[in-house]
Amino acid sequence: MSDYNIAVIPGDGIGIEVVAEGLKVLTSAAERAGIGLSFDHFPWGAGHWLKHRVALPPDAIETLGAYDAIYLGAVGLPGQVPESVGVGQVVLGIRSGFDQFANVRPVRPIPGCPWYLGHRRPEDIDFVVIREATEGFYCNVGGRFAPDAPEVEDIIALRSAFGESAEIAVQTGIFSEAGCRRVIRFAFELARKRNGKKKVTSTTKSNALTHAMGMWDEIFEQVAAEYPDCEHDWMHVDAMSMRFITNPERFDVVVADNLFGDILTDLSAALVGGLGFAPGGNLSQTGPSMFEPPHGSAPDIMGKGIANPIAAILTAAFMMEMLGEMQVAEAIRAAVTTVVSNGIALTPDAGGCATTEQVGDAVTATIAI
Ligand code: NAD
Repeated sequence: MSDYNIAVIPGDGIGIEVVAEGLKVLTSAAERAGIGLSFDHFPWGAGHWLKHRVALPPDAIETLGAYDAIYLGAVGLPGQVPESVGVGQVVLGIRSGFDQFANVRPVRPIPGCPWYLGHRRPEDIDFVVIREATEGFYCNVGGRFAPDAPEVEDIIALRSAFGESAEIAVQTGIFSEAGCRRVIRFAFELARKRNGKKKVTSTTKSNALTHAMGMWDEIFEQVAAEYPDCEHDWMHVDAMSMRFITNPERFDVVVADNLFGDILTDLSAALVGGLGFAPGGNLSQTGPSMFEPPHGSAPDIMGKGIANPIAAILTAAFMMEMLGEMQVAEAIRAAVTTVVSNGIALTPDAGGCATTEQVGDAVTATIAI
């Protein structure tokens, strides 16, 4: 009997390639630790839509609800399948289906990873970005209207140029008081547990997005008052983008809404050597959490066998940590650190010439439990 049942959604493109290596490493580490894992694969994604015109079946949430965790590669086949189908239906569908409100992206570079910050050392950077993952501008609320549509009369009145346009698009962000409060609380709770810095920085833009971010700011201050042992501050997202590069060591826990968090976490991926090194997960308090590297299906390199699987392998380690299997998580991370910092096997994005499979094999061979 397995200790944990994992639903695996490899997805499309390099998602399929990196998940294979993540599972190889995970299986080996779990076996050595005496932990039973069972994996059920689901073929959902853009490729599934091409064949069946369905990216995520209607009963997918019910099916996945029976698992302890979900391990996802990446979805999307741009140019072949509408972009709203892959990420929109599969990734956002599962995140909202299980109310996976906290997208967690650790920013902890491994010595030996590609390094773009000459003025800082990898050891100086250790923070985590918490992105709200169920609300904000990703709620798919809005529409496209002809200028004479009755819905846009008020909008046209705001600016005369709107009236001269052939079409108007409206995209609305939905921010609930409860949704903001719980993700900000999550960030403070994490800050208490992490590494002693106990500092939370809020990402805002309330000087321009006055309604939504104004409420976000107020809630942040209220929640901060519940955690007097934690330091807190805030930055507008534009200034924060600059600080990620100039002073990344100043951050401990960063909390952001869905849109800003999405952008900041690709920026923070550059601080750990690129998308091929950045792990991530979407945590739920009521259903299974979903663990996925933040990168996409990378159509430019898919099928070439050169995708970097480290992000997916570290994502598998994060999944084991969240399942309470710290020994397995730490063993995988230690093996990755040995492989990367000694240049044992590196894919081309990291300056090496190893294949995806060779990196997976090297990490597997290095695991010590
Ligand atoms: P991408 O992350 O797929 O690729 C961006 C660049 O980074 C590419 O040059 C790619 O080769 C490189 N890259 C990414 N991961 C890499 C890895 N592991 N090793 C080496 N290089 C890597 O982003 P994109 O090109 O904007 O999107 C491609 C598709 O993926 C789109 O359909 C998009 O919607 C989708 N996408 C899906 C997810 C997800 O499933 N969660 C996330 C982001 C993008």
